[in-house]
Amino acid sequence: MFKEKILVIEDDVQIQNFMVYTLENAGFTVEGVVKGKDGIDYMIRKNADLILLDLGLPDMDGMDVLRKIREWSEVPIIVVSARDQDKEKVAALDDGADDYLTKPFSATELMARIRVALRHYYRMNPVKTVDKPDETVYKNGGITVDNGAHIAYKDGKEIHLTPLEYQLVLLLMQNTGKVLTYHTLLRKIWGEGYGEDTQVLRSLMASTRRKIENNPAKPEYIETEIGVGYRMREHDKIKE
Ligand code: CA
Repeated sequence: MFKEKILVIEDDVQIQNFMVYTLENAGFTVEGVVKGKDGIDYMIRKNADLILLDLGLPDMDGMDVLRKIREWSEVPIIVVSARDQDKEKVAALDDGADDYLTKPFSATELMARIRVALRHYYRMNPVKTVDKPDETVYKNGGITVDNGAHIAYKDGKEIHLTPLEYQLVLLLMQNTGKVLTYHTLLRKIWGEGYGEDTQVLRSLMASTRRKIENNPAKPEYIETEIGVGYRMREHDKIKE
């Protein structure tokens, strides 16, 4: 059975050991390196299916490792960072990281992020088959978005969304499980000029949540990642 190969670039030996141990136990092939340069070399020579990348590395900035690898590779990259690195997390997501983990994290969290990133990658890069239509229906828990018909449903009933609310829900559903930064959402929904106007996004989010959530004050679907963005929480698969 095919098992993905995961590259761990992390200089904290304890954390690296924890990740390698957890992933090997889950059946992945794992390679751990300490330096950014060794990570890049590994990708050039051997390649991997997913990368866990620490941002604070001894020889180079993790952000530079990310940008370098993104020059030629689309593999999922999950950034691992300390709690006080919010700005870097956002920058990493904007520069092509798929997700992030904040230290300390549990084995469950690690596995959940990896499953989501790999699933998303395979969905976006399907093995090409003849006459396979593009996916247009997205389902997550009680929410369904039929992007062919431009209709969203909650528990089988149509939800009446404005065009912007629909765009927001569609983007989040297409990236279920992944965090989307404020910047990414603003750019995709309103276009380039709105780069930093998070207030307009917050009010759109408030009206959308009133339609999507059972209790908008305690969202079950759209989670806020404080200082970073929003994430459509994956239902059916992650249990707490
Ligand atoms: Ca480090």
